[in-house]
Amino acid sequence: MSCPLARGRFSVQTIVKWEEVGGLLSLKKELEKYIVYPIKALKDNQDFWNDQWTRILLYGPPGCGKTLIAKAVANKVGANFIPFQGLGMLCEVDKDLKSALRKMFDEARAHTPCILFFDHVDVFCIKSGEKGGYVMEQLFSQLLLELEKLEAARGVYVIGTTNRPDLLDPALLTRKGFNKILHVPLPSPEERGLILTAIGPRKKIDVGVDLMALGQRCEGFSGADLVGLIDEAAMFAMEEVFCLDKTIKEEHFKKALEKITPSVWEKVHTCYTYVITL
Ligand code: ADP
Repeated sequence: MSCPLARGRFSVQTIVKWEEVGGLLSLKKELEKYIVYPIKALKDNQDFWNDQWTRILLYGPPGCGKTLIAKAVANKVGANFIPFQGLGMLCEVDKDLKSALRKMFDEARAHTPCILFFDHVDVFCIKSGEKGGYVMEQLFSQLLLELEKLEAARGVYVIGTTNRPDLLDPALLTRKGFNKILHVPLPSPEERGLILTAIGPRKKIDVGVDLMALGQRCEGFSGADLVGLIDEAAMFAMEEVFCLDKTIKEEHFKKALEKITPSVWEKVHTCYTYVITL
């Protein structure tokens, strides 16, 4: 098979900047420790003791920045980024899905530094008997094999995400599977302010809006909900007299807050307080 990276088949460079990720301060520190510094050391031909955490699982409610931070870390360190885009992608590469998955990892090893990204990695955990179960069981064992083989590779990282940690097969959570497991919770009130501040420069928000104070009022909002809030407020701003330099003001946010509600139901939260231990 010719190289998918060379053919531009998969996206290889991400454009999400580290500063575009608001809040998540401790997660940023962890990813710097496990991915950024080791890759920098690799690029400088230095030996670095801390490069064993190469398979990282991010879990938590949807819309809290798991995908965003995975792309941002690849951008920060100039690593290639290969997203696994579901079975369709493997089918395109090869009819034999197991060998297609193997080739994906081979490509990553051939294009270091590289981050392989598996969004919703729980899809690999469908059991036989369920729809698509047989194929997924085969793929699941191949995925485990590939993850284990990475122990010997330098410069290849895997980031997996899941909104449903309760569905994961325990085998994925052993040292041979994902060997670093990080929780990405709903943002705290302060983090909500930081997220609004990070998103703000790309939107026309009036300088008079106190984004940190606004964050305090958005109880239960995820990062994606905060983007929705800004978009809704922008609609209210646009509905007023059409004017190109219109900015989003406090009164628009007030109206938007009456319409936008948290997307992550409170009763679902218990699923994310589920603690995964190695
Ligand atoms: P997840 O992968 O956790 O389901 P995403 O990373 O796809 O969530 O987030 C969806 C969108 O919400 C992002 O594209 C971004 O616009 C916004 N978002 C979420 N979290 C943050 C954050 N911490 N900082 C800035 N934007 C965020």
